Formats: sequence, structure tokens, C-alpha cells
Amino acid sequence: MTDTRRSLALGLALCAALPFTAAGADAPGIDLAGIDRSVAPGDDFFAFANGAWYKATAIPEDRAAFGASAIVYDRTSQRTVELIQDAAKAEAPKGSVERKVGDYYTSFMDETGIEALGLSPVRAKLDAIAAIADVKGLSRYLGTTLRADVDALNATNFYTDNLLGLWIAQDLDQPTRYVPFLMQGGLDMPERTYYVDDSAPMAETRAKFQAHVVKILELGQIADAAAKGARVFELERKIAEVHGSREDSADVKKSNNHRTREALASAAPGLDWTEFLAAAGLGEQKEFVVWHPTAVTGIAALVASQPLETWKDYLTFHALEHHSAVMPAAFGQESFDFHATTLQGTPKRRERWKRAVDATGNALGEAVGQMYVRKYFPPADKARIEAMVRNLISAFDRRVDRLDWMAPATRAKAKAKLKTLQVHVGYPDRFRDYSALEIVKGDAYGNDERAELFEYRRNLAKLGKPIDRGEWVMTPQTVNAVNLPVMNAMNFPAAILQPPYFDPARPLAMDYGAIGAVIGHEISHSFDDQGALFDETGKLDNWWTEADFKHFQEAADRLVKQYDAYEPLPGVKVKGKQTLSENVADVAGLSAAYDGYRMSLGGKPAPSAQGLTGDQQFFVSFAQSWRQKMREALLRQVIVGDSHAPDEFRADIVRNLDPWYAAFDVKPGQKLYLAPADRIRVW
Ligand SMILES: [Zn+2]
Repeated sequence: MTDTRRSLALGLALCAALPFTAAGADAPGIDLAGIDRSVAPGDDFFAFANGAWYKATAIPEDRAAFGASAIVYDRTSQRTVELIQDAAKAEAPKGSVERKVGDYYTSFMDETGIEALGLSPVRAKLDAIAAIADVKGLSRYLGTTLRADVDALNATNFYTDNLLGLWIAQDLDQPTRYVPFLMQGGLDMPERTYYVDDSAPMAETRAKFQAHVVKILELGQIADAAAKGARVFELERKIAEVHGSREDSADVKKSNNHRTREALASAAPGLDWTEFLAAAGLGEQKEFVVWHPTAVTGIAALVASQPLETWKDYLTFHALEHHSAVMPAAFGQESFDFHATTLQGTPKRRERWKRAVDATGNALGEAVGQMYVRKYFPPADKARIEAMVRNLISAFDRRVDRLDWMAPATRAKAKAKLKTLQVHVGYPDRFRDYSALEIVKGDAYGNDERAELFEYRRNLAKLGKPIDRGEWVMTPQTVNAVNLPVMNAMNFPAAILQPPYFDPARPLAMDYGAIGAVIGHEISHSFDDQGALFDETGKLDNWWTEADFKHFQEAADRLVKQYDAYEPLPGVKVKGKQTLSENVADVAGLSAAYDGYRMSLGGKPAPSAQGLTGDQQFFVSFAQSWRQKMREALLRQVIVGDSHAPDEFRADIVRNLDPWYAAFDVKPGQKLYLAPADRIRVW
């Protein structure tokens, strides 16, 4: 994957990432100067809490969005690069993780060396593509491109530029074993909408995309690039036409399609599955889960029906772009120009060292993470967060007890799930073993390729082994948090557990409003419409009754309507259904965080601070944690494809909590006012 798309993942996949100001990062507490007191909280709570900051802030040239997550991200990058550079200088013993980290980074930074190598690192791959003589050979080559680069339920990454993607995870029917999930892929642009939507901006984007393909082919010194570019575009459009939608991808019940090897091949003729699977190292695998059955069938058919030469041009284009971050500068620049500037509106590329830190963190995530937590995550922080998590869990447990709409048997199930829930804080108990990954100083391209392959083989090796519920899907230095629904576990990496998300130096109300709401958000995912699909062992077995589901659906439908009404751009509305699960988690998470905060007071009155009551601190801290300014192109991309609503509207979820009305004297007639009966209470 290119570095530009990596930074996109950081900006967008945030299950619940949060933001503060530069000022807020320096002085603990609420950023009072960022508040816009000319806005009534009841009219626009995001603008009230953030308006002055918003007006005073410009998005840096090298970003598509800016907010506190970016500030914390930058601080973490700075710390991480120092660790990495120290490792590079230290000349640690060969084979040690410090040495691998140092060598990976040094090689990535060696622009002169990379330039001098020219196209030679990618030559073997281009030759292999040129040598493809038939569908059998094509299938074999495609099999070698399969990587563990998608994730349907944890990191929820449905994108791969390879024709198919693989995710190895707990079998949803037999949770004691791992199974390989096959997912759709093969598009260079982020999502099928970009290829099939006939609006004018999308048509314009497609014209620019075709020019991008031509440019990459030209940089690869491929003859007749213009004609080939047109055919590659046409092939991608055909692939997009058979792709499932973003909503299909998120529908677990539609996607849990177990297929024997024979059934897979007979349902999806065209691709030579024997060759493909053997080349992918899955020659012995008997059973698969086909996440996107229609797409897999459609793609397999295209393998046979489209001209072999077009496929070879398509693969040449993808081979040239896939590792563009570690190719001569013109490749990376072109990839950035299209993927970041055209698609997201980012004018300027981030400095190389920042990209090198990301790339190193991607390749050797837990090696870097090990170094990071040793220096920046003291045991006292871990203990403090763990205490907060216990409070949140017990807040949730009490909310479950109080639910009158849920059948007693369902409540018992929910409580069982709370008991087996594993909340991992900071870093994994056991770090990954990188001894099988060879890092060669001076071979940035090879290192990138071997790191992907290492990750793929590490995943393949899980097949046949017992489930490791302690495995992390995020690195400790990631500014984010995640719920792993099938493992009934959560990761709160060390990097998100720092000021201003969490700060021992400020009143607890502010911590509960910020990181507490994130923890509550993640816990609630275990019990929402998606969480209800998995029982306490991770089995896909809906533990809600019909009546429970009906009540939830009623509340959910109202929340869909609440979000459908938001209009971030003229004529462009938030998609209430696409963002429903995250919006439910936001309202539930904030509610549980509020309870946890009240519990933490132990019956005493809340201390006021900075001229704000305890409840005001809680809600303003929450809304400031969603502080974010976004370029229009990225905003469009978020609305089209992200499962989260734009941050501004996530802040406005406060309108569903009764205490918010009292804290800010919100009255009927104000824009965010909801009559008590219209406020959504799922939990
Ligand atoms: Zn979430």
C-alpha cells in the first residue's frame, strides 16, 4: 500500500479518535480560548465548544484534516522517530529488533540510494507479469499477490489494491479455530462508488484517475501507456461493477459464507483456483469463508473473460504503484498527487522522515511499540486507566440491570459477555517475534516487500493453531482504540492514553468526557447490533430476542433519522444508516462515561474548575475531543465511505443525554433541542 493511503487509514479508520488544541496539549484542562461564546450551546454544541479554535486554525498544507488527533499523532511520531533514530545510530547486534528497526528506517530515508536503483527492484515482478502466457499463469501470479491486508471486523479495513484480500480470524461458527476469509479487492481508488457514481465530481475524478494510470505506466517506461491506461481503467471499472457496496461489506450475516475449496471453485469459475491457492500458500486449506461472494464470482469470471494483455497491463500498473513509497521519487509524488491531493484535497506531502516513521511502524509495529512503551508509558498510567476501565464496565453492568426493554435472558447473556470481556491497555503481554523477517540495509523496496510477506505468513501460520485472545491488532504507538468483536476484547494503545485525551493533572470529569467516552464507545460495540451477533465465546449467534431487536430497531431508526438530517455540504447529507453502529456507540459510550464519572465522585458534589461545573467540564471536554477541521474533498470521502459520521456531528450526540440540557440550559426551539421522548436511549 502506498504511504498516502496509509495516512488516510490513520485519518479515517479511527474508531474513536479524539482531538484537542495545541494550547490544550500544553496546559491541562479545557481550552477556554477555543470556545465561541457567541454560539448558544443548544444551537450548535460543536461550534460552541470549538468555534474560536476553528476560526483561528488553518489546516496544514500537508494534511487533509487537522485537529487534536493530528497533534497527538505528531507528538507520538516525534517520540517514535527519536527512538528509531537512536536505534539506527546504536548499531545494535545484528538480528535484534533495534537493529531491524534502525536498518528499515535508514533504508527508507536513503533517497539517493533508492533513486540510483531506479526500476531495478521492481524488475523481477515486471518480468514475471510479462511472462504470463495464459489464465493458469495469470491465476498463479495473482495468488502470489495475496496478502493479509484486510480485516472485516476488527480494524474494519475493506480495501486492498490486490485483486483479493485475505483475513485470518476466528471462525464465526466454530470460535475455537481460525479460518481464512476471502475479500474483494483490486481497485486503485478507495471504493466502487468512485467508478460507478455518475455525478459530475466523480466523473471528473475518473478522468484524473485515468491520467494517473497513464503517468505511472510512463514512469515505469512502459510503451503505449495512453492506450494501456484506458484499458486498465476500463478493467477496474468492470471490477468495481461486481464489487459489493460498503453496506454489504459491513453485513456479517450476508458475508459469513463458508465454502469448501471445491464449492469455492465451482461457484466462481474463470480464475484457476488450484493455481491461485497453491501460489498463495493455501494449497492445503480445505475451507474458506467468502466475505463477498458476488464480487469473488464476478472477479473470477473477469479473469477469464478479459483479454490477457489487459490483465498484464493492469498488474504492471499495480506492481509499479504498490511500493511507490520506496521507489524513485517520481512514483511516490505521482501516487501522492492522485491519492492525497485529488482524492482528499491535501496539497503538500508530509516530510519524508514522518513517512519513514509510519512505514517502519507498519513493517515492525510491535518492535517499535516495545521501544515506545519502555520509555513513554509508565506503569502508573496503565494502572490508572485500568481503574477507569473497571469503573466503565461496572457502569455498563448497572445500565444493563436497569434496562426494562431487554428480556431477562438477554440481560444475563449481556452480563456474561461483560464478564469475559478482555480490555487490553497500553501494549500486549507478549510482543511479536520478528526473527523470521529479514531487513537488509540499503534495500528499502525489498524490506517493504518482505515485511508484507512476513505479515502474511505470520497470519497463515495461525491456521490450525488455538485462538490467541491476547493478540493485538493495533500497535502501542497508534493513536486510536479498537473493539475486537469476535475475540470479545479491546485494545487501548499507549499512544492514545496521553494528554489531552487522558491527563492525570486535570479533573476526572474531563478525562471521563474524553477518554472515558472512547472507552464507553468501545465497550458498547460488544453489546450493540453488531455485538449482539456474537456471544461471549465469539460465536456468530444472535443472543437478542425478537422483541429486544425490535426495540433496538425503533431506537436505531430514530437515530438514523437524526443523522440523515445533518447536511455538512449543500445537498450532501450524512448517511444515517451507514454510520448507525458508530452513532449508537457514541450515545451509549457517552452515557456510560457520564455514569462512570458520577460514580467516581463517590456521592460528593463535583468540583468546579475553570469556571465550569463538573457536568459542563464533562461535556465540553467531550466536544473538544472531537475538534477537527477537514478539507472538503476528504469530507466527501468520509461521507461516502466511512462508518463514522463527520466529527462535528459526533460531538452533537450530547443532545441525547438529559444532563446536557440542564448543564447548558438548553430550551425548546434551539436547533439541537430534542423533546425528552425523542432523545435516543439504547442502553
Ligand atoms: Zn466504533
